[in-house]
Amino acid sequence: MTDSVELPAKLAILPFRNRVLLPGAIVRIRCTSPASVKLVEQELWQKEEKGLIGVLPVRDTQVAEGIPALPALSPGHITDMGERNGKGYLSTSSDGIKSPQDHLQWHKRGVAARALHLSRGMEKPSGRVTYTVVLEGLCRFKVLELNAKGAYHIARVSGLDMTRTEMDQAEQDSELLVLSRQFKAIASELISILEQKQKTVGRIKVLLETVPVHKLADIFVASFEVSFDEQIAMLDAVDLKLRLTKSIELVNRHLQTIRVAEKISQKVEGQLSKSQKEFLLRQQMRAIKEELGDNDDDEDDVVALERKMQSAGMPPNVWKYAQRELRRLRKMQPQQPGYSSSRGYLELLADLPWQISSEEHELDLRAAKERLDSEHYGLGKVKKRIIEYIAVRKLKPDARGPVLCFVGPPGVGKTSLASSIAGALDRKFVRISLGGVKDEADIRGHRRTYIGSMPGRLIEGLKRVGVNNPVMLLDEVDKTGSDVRGDPASALLEVLDPEQNKAFNDHYLNVPFDLSKVIFVATANRVQPIPPPLLDRMEVIELPGYTREEKLKIAMRHLIPRVLDQHGLTSQYLQISESMAELMIQRYTREAGVRNLERHLAALARAAAVKVAEREQSLRLTKEIHPQTTSLLEGSSLADGGEIEMEVVPMGVNGREISSALESTEILVVDESMIEKVLGPPKFDDGEAAERVASPGVAVGLVWTAFGGEVQFVEATAMVGKGEIHLTGQLGDVIKESAQIALTWVRARATELSLATGLEANLMESRDIHIHFPAGAVPKDGPSAGVTLATALVSLFGRRNVRADTAMTGELTLRGLVLPVGGIKDKILAAHRCGIKRVILPERNLKDLAEVPAAVLRNVEILLAKRMEDVLNEAFEGGCSWQRISKL
Ligand code: ADP
Repeated sequence: MTDSVELPAKLAILPFRNRVLLPGAIVRIRCTSPASVKLVEQELWQKEEKGLIGVLPVRDTQVAEGIPALPALSPGHITDMGERNGKGYLSTSSDGIKSPQDHLQWHKRGVAARALHLSRGMEKPSGRVTYTVVLEGLCRFKVLELNAKGAYHIARVSGLDMTRTEMDQAEQDSELLVLSRQFKAIASELISILEQKQKTVGRIKVLLETVPVHKLADIFVASFEVSFDEQIAMLDAVDLKLRLTKSIELVNRHLQTIRVAEKISQKVEGQLSKSQKEFLLRQQMRAIKEELGDNDDDEDDVVALERKMQSAGMPPNVWKYAQRELRRLRKMQPQQPGYSSSRGYLELLADLPWQISSEEHELDLRAAKERLDSEHYGLGKVKKRIIEYIAVRKLKPDARGPVLCFVGPPGVGKTSLASSIAGALDRKFVRISLGGVKDEADIRGHRRTYIGSMPGRLIEGLKRVGVNNPVMLLDEVDKTGSDVRGDPASALLEVLDPEQNKAFNDHYLNVPFDLSKVIFVATANRVQPIPPPLLDRMEVIELPGYTREEKLKIAMRHLIPRVLDQHGLTSQYLQISESMAELMIQRYTREAGVRNLERHLAALARAAAVKVAEREQSLRLTKEIHPQTTSLLEGSSLADGGEIEMEVVPMGVNGREISSALESTEILVVDESMIEKVLGPPKFDDGEAAERVASPGVAVGLVWTAFGGEVQFVEATAMVGKGEIHLTGQLGDVIKESAQIALTWVRARATELSLATGLEANLMESRDIHIHFPAGAVPKDGPSAGVTLATALVSLFGRRNVRADTAMTGELTLRGLVLPVGGIKDKILAAHRCGIKRVILPERNLKDLAEVPAAVLRNVEILLAKRMEDVLNEAFEGGCSWQRISKL
């Protein structure tokens, strides 16, 4: 920039519409109007030595409508120029310049400019010449006179800038000094702000140090976006103080604008940072994943998981915990260890029925009773107790009654009764099997620190059933045992305790779950193994097992219809008569329950289903071959087969007619041969006892197992030896001792029982005794075989057969007393099932007979024994000869 400019007296004037060129500023103008094209051509393009031109702001009132009126300029500046319009503008028409655009107002002050660059162009398609000119503003001038020269205007001008001496004087002015300092301060502040943002303010920064302040003021203002009026005001500010004041105001305003804009953008950024920022980051992450090629839909899955969790209705503390875990999951990669475990955990949380309950209806006792009756035969006492239980719940829904525990052999209906309770209460049913559970973690879950950890069976069951108020069957509570891995029974105690189960703590879940709405029902085969504290919380209801008659009724009323239905059959396809069912019960089952019976019936149904299906298919094939055949011979049967041309089928035959045709001829009636074909040769028969007891040394005992009562043969045999006793058949210590006691008793009474001739006779003299309990693979124990063992030995030594129709049970003491034993009811039922007609029992077990169904007692003779001699008397045909010999 030149320091001082020689301003000529006349300048060609380039009108600058609604814009102002200030000294120090550089603009690029495209000239297209004929006047300005002419001007540039003649004054700049064609002249070798480029002179100056004047750039004069022109207000286009049409365009600039709405622009606030300029502040009145000092009148002194425009005296020389024709008409004064009071606003510092020249009216073009007033000085004789004929302007077609009357709405243009020429300003009276302008800036002399130098062309830095010129280029010539052609407007398409008109072919008009245009110029683009880069101009640098140099100094202010005022128009003294404006005249048209051809197409453009020439003005007589005079400079407005101060001379050097005037400038030197002005610099002494303290007010001006203060203003300059103020301006510099604010200008450098602006620069430092811009510097942070753009880093391209180098030019201005250099200017700040080299250019005098009054010129700087123009340059700064020229570089902002300020309104036309303000630019005009700046142009008009010839006075230095005024110019600096004006520029300080404008720079300051610009500074504020930048600051406010910054604040707003910061604020907006802050708001973004929460949700949108997360969104943006997620988008970026997805893009990165896509690039890496591991973009599966995990992200969407997590979103779906979160949605599922939200609708799971978790309590607030659980929800908080779950959210923390979810955040952890979000940060993980699916391949990362721990991802799937964390995910599995959250899935469980989302799946658990925190709030979901089956709707509870008003309990209808009669309907409940009907339901129990329709699903189960007999069991009067059990059903009565269940109805009582339901009645209490009806009166007091949150009653904390004891947990019902059904105890009995397998297949007596414990599970199905529990499920009927659920049906009667309108609840869902879930069965948790506790058989063989030795680890506390099976009930309470493993902590999640373990690899492959899982929730306990209870929580798993609740997830499966999907409601928090089901009837939950704890199956086989007697089969849990404790070992080093903890005590499952103590965990169960917590589950069944209404005080504690409100916040059941599964180790895997790690947050409490409310089990108080669950109705627990337990089952067990035996009471003894149930730990006493657990038993204490339960009410034991015994289901003893069924008699043959009961089994028959159950089979006819419940099992057969159910089995047929399960196999898609009806009684029109398969008929099982009562006598055949009885035969099956007698020959193929000897269990206390009806599970095997049900299985055998199912086997028959399967065989029948195959036959029926085959028949139906062959019938259809026949129909397909001759669909329209009508017969000449009415009444011939389809099942005659083969003779298709003689078939009688009404037109439009359909499946129903086929099957009814089949029914009339093809009902499968189960007979003995079919039973044998399907089930194999009979497994049991009533003559078994007679056969096995046909030789001396065998006695029939009655034992009690988890499967109910059973008939147990005891075999004894003697051989040459050294007086030893051998015991086989997986015997426990107690039963082995019973054998010793029995042998001792028999040897001690050898003479009295006429087993030996002399007083000193030794029954074991040069012989060994072997006692075996058949079904050698089944472990046996207990004292109740004492009398049977003694009877077998007496039979062996006395060479007499024991009665085949008599079975016995009782503990024997060394003195020959018969002590009471347990499981009498089951044992008598077992004897009855096996066709035994007489049962010898310890006398003190008389009271237990009250539990035995009367129908059984009618068929089985009960013989009570106080001493071993009484047993022997009943065990042998014609009693046992007994010689009274004075005791030692
Ligand atoms: P458990 O649980 O005692 O081992 P289940 O409840 O599984 O025995 O019963 C075995 C089968 O026998 C089931 O199909 C059940 O319906 C049937 N059942 C048992 N007792 C009866 C009964 N009294 N009336 C009708 N069906 C019975």
